[in-house]
Amino acid sequence: MSASDNPALAGATGIVAIDLAALAANWRALAKLVAPADCGAVVKADAYGLGAVEIIPALERAGCRTFFVATPDEAAEARALALDAAIYVLDGLVSGGVPTLLAANARPVLSSLAEAREWAAVAGRAPAAVHVDTGLNRLGMPPEEWAAFAADASLRRRLDLRLMMSHLACADDPAHPMNQAQRSAFESARTRLPDSPASLAASDGLMLGPEYHYDLVRPGYALYGGQAAQRSRAPVSPVVTVKARVLQVREVPAGATVGYSATYTARTLRRIATVAAGYADGFARGTGVSLDEGTGRPGGAVSIRGVRAPVVGRVSMDLITVDVTDVPGSPIACGEWAILIGQGLSLEDVGAGAGTIGYEVLTRLGRRFYRLYV
Ligand SMILES: *Cc1c(COP(=O)(O)O)cnc(C)c1O
Repeated sequence: MSASDNPALAGATGIVAIDLAALAANWRALAKLVAPADCGAVVKADAYGLGAVEIIPALERAGCRTFFVATPDEAAEARALALDAAIYVLDGLVSGGVPTLLAANARPVLSSLAEAREWAAVAGRAPAAVHVDTGLNRLGMPPEEWAAFAADASLRRRLDLRLMMSHLACADDPAHPMNQAQRSAFESARTRLPDSPASLAASDGLMLGPEYHYDLVRPGYALYGGQAAQRSRAPVSPVVTVKARVLQVREVPAGATVGYSATYTARTLRRIATVAAGYADGFARGTGVSLDEGTGRPGGAVSIRGVRAPVVGRVSMDLITVDVTDVPGSPIACGEWAILIGQGLSLEDVGAGAGTIGYEVLTRLGRRFYRLYV
Protein backbone atom coordinates (compact mmCIF):
# COMPACT_ATOMS: atom_id res chain seq x y z
CA MET A 1 0.00 0.00 0.00
CA SER A 2 1.37 3.42 -0.82
CA ALA A 3 0.98 6.37 1.47
CA SER A 4 -1.50 7.98 -0.90
CA ASP A 5 -3.94 5.03 -0.54
CA ASN A 6 -4.16 5.43 3.20
CA PRO A 7 -5.26 8.73 4.71
CA ALA A 8 -3.60 7.87 8.03
CA LEU A 9 -0.29 7.80 6.20
CA ALA A 10 -0.77 10.93 4.16
CA GLY A 11 0.85 13.16 6.75
CA ALA A 12 3.27 10.62 8.17
CA THR A 13 6.88 11.77 8.33
CA GLY A 14 8.24 8.24 8.65
CA ILE A 15 7.00 4.72 7.99
CA VAL A 16 8.26 1.29 9.05
CA ALA A 17 6.67 -1.20 6.66
CA ILE A 18 6.80 -4.85 7.72
CA ASP A 19 6.03 -7.46 5.10
CA LEU A 20 4.32 -10.32 6.95
CA ALA A 21 4.09 -12.42 3.78
CA ALA A 22 7.87 -12.20 3.37
CA LEU A 23 8.27 -13.13 7.04
CA ALA A 24 6.08 -16.22 6.58
CA ALA A 25 7.92 -17.15 3.39
CA ASN A 26 11.24 -16.82 5.21
CA TRP A 27 10.10 -19.13 7.99
CA ARG A 28 8.84 -21.69 5.46
CA ALA A 29 12.08 -21.52 3.46
CA LEU A 30 14.16 -22.18 6.58
CA ALA A 31 11.78 -24.92 7.74
CA LYS A 32 12.19 -26.61 4.36
CA LEU A 33 15.95 -26.22 4.45
CA VAL A 34 16.30 -27.91 7.83
CA ALA A 35 13.64 -30.63 7.50
CA PRO A 36 13.31 -33.19 9.00
CA ALA A 37 14.52 -31.02 11.89
CA ASP A 38 11.90 -28.62 13.26
CA CYS A 39 12.17 -24.88 12.82
CA GLY A 40 11.31 -22.61 15.73
CA ALA A 41 11.37 -18.82 15.83
CA VAL A 42 13.21 -16.47 18.14
CA VAL A 43 10.90 -13.56 18.95
CA LYS A 44 12.75 -11.97 21.88
CA ALA A 45 13.03 -8.18 22.18
CA ASP A 46 9.53 -7.66 20.76
CA ALA A 47 10.38 -9.83 17.74
CA TYR A 48 13.62 -7.95 17.12
CA GLY A 49 11.81 -4.65 17.36
CA LEU A 50 9.23 -5.48 14.71
CA GLY A 51 6.27 -6.03 17.05
CA ALA A 52 5.57 -9.42 18.64
CA VAL A 53 1.84 -8.72 18.48
CA GLU A 54 1.91 -8.97 14.68
CA ILE A 55 4.95 -11.20 14.18
CA ILE A 56 4.05 -14.12 16.47
CA PRO A 57 0.58 -14.78 14.98
CA ALA A 58 2.00 -14.47 11.46
CA LEU A 59 4.68 -17.05 12.25
CA GLU A 60 2.12 -19.33 13.85
CA ARG A 61 -0.05 -19.11 10.74
CA ALA A 62 3.02 -20.05 8.70
CA GLY A 63 3.31 -23.23 10.78
CA CYS A 64 5.70 -22.34 13.59
CA ARG A 65 4.96 -24.16 16.85
CA THR A 66 8.00 -23.29 18.97
CA PHE A 67 8.97 -19.79 20.09
CA PHE A 68 11.95 -18.51 22.04
CA VAL A 69 11.84 -15.31 24.08
CA ALA A 70 14.38 -13.87 26.52
CA THR A 71 12.32 -12.86 29.56
CA PRO A 72 9.24 -13.98 31.53
CA ASP A 73 7.35 -10.84 30.48
CA GLU A 74 8.02 -11.65 26.86
CA ALA A 75 6.80 -15.19 27.51
CA ALA A 76 3.52 -13.91 28.95
CA GLU A 77 2.99 -11.71 25.91
CA ALA A 78 3.85 -14.55 23.54
CA ARG A 79 1.50 -16.92 25.37
CA ALA A 80 -1.44 -14.58 24.86
CA LEU A 81 -0.68 -14.57 21.14
CA ALA A 82 0.11 -18.26 20.64
CA LEU A 83 -2.09 -20.34 22.93
CA ASP A 84 -0.82 -23.77 21.91
CA ALA A 85 2.82 -23.12 21.09
CA ALA A 86 5.84 -24.22 23.09
CA ILE A 87 7.49 -21.09 24.52
CA TYR A 88 11.07 -21.23 25.80
CA VAL A 89 12.63 -18.51 27.95
CA LEU A 90 16.31 -18.14 27.07
CA ASP A 91 17.28 -16.16 30.19
CA GLY A 92 16.39 -19.25 32.23
CA LEU A 93 14.97 -19.17 35.73
CA VAL A 94 15.57 -16.19 37.98
CA SER A 95 15.24 -17.36 41.56
CA GLY A 96 11.65 -16.92 42.72
CA GLY A 97 10.43 -16.74 39.13
CA VAL A 98 8.73 -20.12 38.87
CA PRO A 99 5.11 -18.87 39.34
CA THR A 100 5.50 -16.24 36.60
CA LEU A 101 6.73 -18.85 34.16
CA LEU A 102 4.05 -21.36 35.12
CA ALA A 103 1.36 -18.71 34.71
CA ALA A 104 2.53 -18.24 31.12
CA ASN A 105 2.88 -21.99 30.62
CA ALA A 106 6.43 -21.17 29.54
CA ARG A 107 9.52 -23.36 29.67
CA PRO A 108 12.71 -21.95 31.16
CA VAL A 109 15.99 -22.86 29.51
CA LEU A 110 17.68 -23.90 32.76
CA SER A 111 21.25 -22.66 32.81
CA SER A 112 22.66 -24.13 36.02
CA LEU A 113 22.22 -26.92 38.54
CA ALA A 114 20.73 -24.40 40.95
CA GLU A 115 18.09 -23.41 38.39
CA ALA A 116 17.35 -27.05 37.63
CA ARG A 117 16.93 -27.83 41.36
CA GLU A 118 14.64 -24.88 41.96
CA TRP A 119 12.48 -25.72 38.94
CA ALA A 120 12.22 -29.38 40.04
CA ALA A 121 11.36 -28.35 43.59
CA VAL A 122 8.79 -25.67 42.81
CA ALA A 123 7.44 -26.41 39.34
CA GLY A 124 7.36 -30.17 39.64
CA ARG A 125 7.32 -31.83 36.26
CA ALA A 126 6.36 -28.77 34.21
CA PRO A 127 8.30 -28.92 30.93
CA ALA A 128 11.69 -27.21 30.72
CA ALA A 129 14.86 -27.11 28.66
CA VAL A 130 18.51 -27.19 29.73
CA HIS A 131 21.38 -25.16 28.39
CA VAL A 132 24.85 -26.67 28.16
CA ASP A 133 27.74 -24.30 27.51
CA THR A 134 30.01 -25.53 24.73
CA GLY A 135 32.40 -22.61 24.64
CA LEU A 136 30.49 -19.34 24.40
CA ASN A 137 30.99 -18.84 28.14
CA ARG A 138 27.84 -16.83 28.48
CA LEU A 139 24.93 -18.96 29.70
CA GLY A 140 24.53 -22.65 30.37
CA MET A 141 26.22 -25.36 32.40
CA PRO A 142 29.95 -25.73 31.86
CA PRO A 143 31.15 -29.33 31.26
CA GLU A 144 31.74 -30.29 34.94
CA GLU A 145 28.36 -28.95 36.00
CA TRP A 146 26.74 -30.71 33.05
CA ALA A 147 28.35 -33.98 34.14
CA ALA A 148 27.06 -33.47 37.68
CA PHE A 149 23.58 -32.67 36.37
CA ALA A 150 23.53 -35.73 34.14
CA ALA A 151 24.76 -37.93 36.97
CA ASP A 152 21.98 -36.78 39.32
CA ALA A 153 19.35 -39.31 38.26
CA SER A 154 16.93 -38.32 40.99
CA LEU A 155 17.00 -34.66 39.92
CA ARG A 156 16.50 -35.61 36.30
CA ARG A 157 13.54 -37.84 37.21
CA ARG A 158 11.86 -34.85 38.78
CA LEU A 159 12.25 -32.80 35.57
CA ASP A 160 10.38 -33.07 32.28
CA LEU A 161 13.16 -32.05 29.90
CA ARG A 162 11.90 -31.30 26.43
CA LEU A 163 15.10 -29.89 24.94
CA MET A 164 18.83 -29.60 25.55
CA MET A 165 20.46 -26.73 23.78
CA SER A 166 23.69 -24.85 23.29
CA HIS A 167 24.68 -21.76 21.34
CA LEU A 168 27.48 -21.16 18.83
CA ALA A 169 29.97 -18.32 19.12
CA CYS A 170 31.31 -18.01 15.57
CA ALA A 171 28.71 -19.50 13.24
CA ASP A 172 28.72 -16.33 11.14
CA ASP A 173 32.12 -17.51 9.88
CA PRO A 174 31.68 -20.99 8.37
CA ALA A 175 35.46 -21.54 8.34
CA HIS A 176 35.92 -20.78 12.02
CA PRO A 177 37.33 -23.75 13.99
CA MET A 178 35.07 -22.95 16.97
CA ASN A 179 32.08 -24.31 15.01
CA GLN A 180 33.43 -27.83 14.84
CA ALA A 181 34.86 -27.61 18.36
CA GLN A 182 31.49 -26.61 19.81
CA ARG A 183 29.69 -29.27 17.81
CA SER A 184 32.07 -31.90 19.22
CA ALA A 185 31.49 -30.58 22.73
CA PHE A 186 27.74 -30.69 22.12
CA GLU A 187 28.01 -34.28 20.86
CA SER A 188 29.86 -35.28 23.97
CA ALA A 189 27.30 -33.49 26.20
CA ARG A 190 24.56 -35.38 24.36
CA THR A 191 26.03 -38.75 25.24
CA ARG A 192 25.05 -37.98 28.85
CA LEU A 193 21.45 -37.16 27.92
CA PRO A 194 20.91 -39.30 24.84
CA ASP A 195 17.09 -39.26 24.89
CA SER A 196 16.64 -35.50 24.93
CA PRO A 197 15.77 -33.60 21.74
CA ALA A 198 18.62 -31.21 20.93
CA SER A 199 19.12 -27.75 19.44
CA LEU A 200 22.36 -25.98 18.55
CA ALA A 201 21.84 -23.62 15.62
CA ALA A 202 20.52 -20.07 15.25
CA SER A 203 20.25 -18.18 11.90
CA ASP A 204 23.91 -18.51 11.04
CA GLY A 205 24.44 -21.99 12.52
CA LEU A 206 21.68 -23.55 10.47
CA MET A 207 23.59 -22.55 7.32
CA LEU A 208 26.57 -24.66 8.45
CA GLY A 209 24.89 -27.86 7.25
CA PRO A 210 22.60 -30.64 8.42
CA GLU A 211 25.00 -31.86 11.09
CA TYR A 212 24.22 -28.63 12.97
CA HIS A 213 20.41 -28.97 12.76
CA TYR A 214 19.72 -31.68 15.35
CA ASP A 215 16.01 -31.74 16.28
CA LEU A 216 15.23 -28.04 16.27
CA VAL A 217 16.81 -24.86 14.91
CA ARG A 218 16.31 -21.43 16.48
CA PRO A 219 16.52 -18.66 13.87
CA GLY A 220 15.67 -15.07 14.72
CA TYR A 221 17.49 -12.55 12.54
CA ALA A 222 17.10 -14.54 9.30
CA LEU A 223 13.32 -14.63 9.70
CA TYR A 224 13.35 -10.85 9.66
CA GLY A 225 15.37 -10.79 6.44
CA GLY A 226 18.83 -10.53 7.97
CA GLN A 227 21.90 -12.22 6.56
CA ALA A 228 23.79 -13.30 9.67
CA ALA A 229 26.65 -14.82 7.70
CA GLN A 230 27.81 -13.03 4.59
CA ARG A 231 29.56 -16.10 3.20
CA SER A 232 26.63 -18.48 3.56
CA ARG A 233 23.55 -16.51 2.72
CA ALA A 234 20.23 -17.75 4.07
CA PRO A 235 17.35 -18.26 1.57
CA VAL A 236 15.39 -15.31 2.95
CA SER A 237 14.19 -11.95 1.62
CA PRO A 238 13.92 -8.55 3.27
CA VAL A 239 10.95 -7.97 5.57
CA VAL A 240 11.49 -4.37 6.68
CA THR A 241 11.40 -1.11 4.78
CA VAL A 242 11.92 2.16 6.60
CA LYS A 243 11.37 5.49 4.91
CA ALA A 244 11.18 9.09 6.02
CA ARG A 245 10.26 12.35 4.32
CA VAL A 246 12.55 15.00 3.02
CA LEU A 247 11.50 18.13 4.95
CA GLN A 248 13.76 20.73 3.35
CA VAL A 249 16.48 20.99 0.75
CA ARG A 250 19.11 23.73 0.73
CA GLU A 251 22.31 24.73 -0.97
CA VAL A 252 25.30 24.87 1.32
CA PRO A 253 28.24 26.89 0.01
CA ALA A 254 31.84 25.77 0.17
CA GLY A 255 33.25 26.33 3.64
CA ALA A 256 29.89 26.20 5.45
CA THR A 257 29.18 23.50 8.00
CA VAL A 258 26.17 21.23 8.56
CA GLY A 259 24.64 20.12 11.86
CA TYR A 260 25.52 20.11 15.55
CA SER A 261 29.15 20.69 16.46
CA ALA A 262 29.81 21.62 12.84
CA THR A 263 31.47 18.29 12.16
CA TYR A 264 30.93 18.44 8.42
CA THR A 265 32.31 21.19 6.21
CA ALA A 266 31.20 21.45 2.59
CA ARG A 267 34.26 21.51 0.34
CA THR A 268 32.28 22.68 -2.66
CA LEU A 269 28.73 23.90 -3.13
CA ARG A 270 26.53 21.02 -1.88
CA ARG A 271 22.81 20.35 -1.98
CA ILE A 272 21.73 19.07 1.45
CA ALA A 273 18.35 17.44 2.19
CA THR A 274 17.04 17.31 5.75
CA VAL A 275 15.15 14.06 6.40
CA ALA A 276 12.64 13.41 9.21
CA ALA A 277 14.48 10.62 11.03
CA GLY A 278 16.92 10.79 13.89
CA TYR A 279 18.42 8.83 16.71
CA ALA A 280 15.03 8.77 18.43
CA ASP A 281 13.92 6.66 15.48
CA GLY A 282 16.86 4.31 15.86
CA PHE A 283 19.08 5.94 13.29
CA ALA A 284 22.37 5.85 15.20
CA ARG A 285 23.94 9.19 16.01
CA GLY A 286 27.31 8.00 14.78
CA THR A 287 25.91 7.26 11.33
CA GLY A 288 26.47 10.77 10.12
CA VAL A 289 30.16 10.38 9.67
CA SER A 290 31.56 13.58 8.40
CA LEU A 291 33.83 13.42 5.43
CA ASP A 292 36.32 15.34 7.51
CA GLU A 293 36.24 13.22 10.63
CA GLY A 294 38.22 10.40 9.10
CA THR A 295 36.82 7.64 11.29
CA GLY A 296 38.16 5.01 8.96
CA ARG A 297 34.82 3.54 7.99
CA PRO A 298 32.30 4.62 5.41
CA GLY A 299 29.41 6.50 6.94
CA GLY A 300 25.79 5.68 6.44
CA ALA A 301 23.65 6.54 3.47
CA VAL A 302 20.00 6.75 2.57
CA SER A 303 18.49 6.00 -0.81
CA ILE A 304 16.64 8.73 -2.68
CA ARG A 305 15.21 7.95 -6.11
CA GLY A 306 17.27 4.78 -6.05
CA VAL A 307 20.55 6.66 -5.54
CA ARG A 308 22.63 6.44 -2.39
CA ALA A 309 23.00 9.78 -0.68
CA PRO A 310 25.58 9.93 2.15
CA VAL A 311 24.55 11.09 5.59
CA VAL A 312 26.64 14.13 6.47
CA GLY A 313 27.14 15.81 9.83
CA ARG A 314 25.71 14.67 13.14
CA VAL A 315 22.46 12.77 13.28
CA SER A 316 20.18 14.69 15.65
CA MET A 317 17.23 13.40 17.63
CA ASP A 318 14.66 13.91 14.89
CA LEU A 319 16.62 14.81 11.78
CA ILE A 320 19.40 13.73 9.52
CA THR A 321 21.11 15.66 6.79
CA VAL A 322 22.07 13.95 3.56
CA ASP A 323 24.08 15.08 0.57
CA VAL A 324 21.83 14.83 -2.50
CA THR A 325 24.08 16.81 -4.83
CA ASP A 326 24.70 13.74 -6.99
CA VAL A 327 21.10 12.56 -7.24
CA PRO A 328 20.27 13.13 -10.90
CA GLY A 329 17.08 14.62 -12.32
CA SER A 330 15.01 17.52 -11.11
CA PRO A 331 15.90 18.94 -7.69
CA ILE A 332 14.70 16.83 -4.75
CA ALA A 333 11.39 18.21 -3.52
CA CYS A 334 10.04 18.54 0.00
CA GLY A 335 7.89 15.53 0.88
CA GLU A 336 9.85 13.03 -1.22
CA TRP A 337 10.74 9.81 0.57
CA ALA A 338 14.21 8.81 1.61
CA ILE A 339 14.63 5.07 2.10
CA LEU A 340 16.59 4.32 5.27
CA ILE A 341 16.31 0.52 5.18
CA GLY A 342 15.22 -1.62 2.24
CA GLN A 343 15.12 -1.29 -1.52
CA GLY A 344 18.76 -2.18 -1.89
CA LEU A 345 19.91 -0.85 1.48
CA SER A 346 20.22 -4.04 3.49
CA LEU A 347 20.16 -4.29 7.27
CA GLU A 348 23.85 -5.13 7.02
CA ASP A 349 24.57 -1.99 4.96
CA VAL A 350 22.80 0.16 7.51
CA GLY A 351 24.55 -1.59 10.38
CA ALA A 352 27.95 -1.11 8.76
CA GLY A 353 27.19 2.57 8.14
CA ALA A 354 26.40 2.99 11.82
CA GLY A 355 29.45 1.06 13.02
CA THR A 356 27.32 -1.83 14.30
CA ILE A 357 25.40 -4.84 12.97
CA GLY A 358 21.96 -5.22 11.42
CA TYR A 359 20.66 -6.89 14.58
CA GLU A 360 21.15 -3.70 16.54
CA VAL A 361 19.60 -1.61 13.78
CA LEU A 362 16.46 -3.76 13.89
CA THR A 363 16.06 -3.90 17.65
CA ARG A 364 16.60 -0.14 18.00
CA LEU A 365 13.99 0.92 15.47
CA GLY A 366 12.06 3.64 17.21
CA ARG A 367 8.39 3.64 18.12
CA ARG A 368 7.60 7.00 16.56
CA PHE A 369 7.29 6.04 12.92
CA TYR A 370 3.98 4.86 11.59
CA ARG A 371 4.04 1.06 11.50
CA LEU A 372 2.47 -0.54 8.52
CA TYR A 373 2.00 -4.32 8.42
CA VAL A 374 1.42 -5.52 4.89
C1 LIG B 1 19.12 -14.66 20.10
C2 LIG B 1 19.36 -16.12 20.12
C3 LIG B 1 19.05 -16.92 19.01
C4 LIG B 1 18.65 -16.33 17.69
O1 LIG B 1 19.78 -15.82 17.04
P1 LIG B 1 19.75 -15.26 15.55
O2 LIG B 1 21.16 -15.02 15.22
O3 LIG B 1 18.92 -14.02 15.59
O4 LIG B 1 19.11 -16.31 14.71
C5 LIG B 1 19.15 -18.29 19.14
N1 LIG B 1 19.59 -18.85 20.31
C6 LIG B 1 19.94 -18.11 21.38
C7 LIG B 1 20.44 -18.77 22.60
C8 LIG B 1 19.86 -16.72 21.32
O5 LIG B 1 20.23 -15.98 22.38
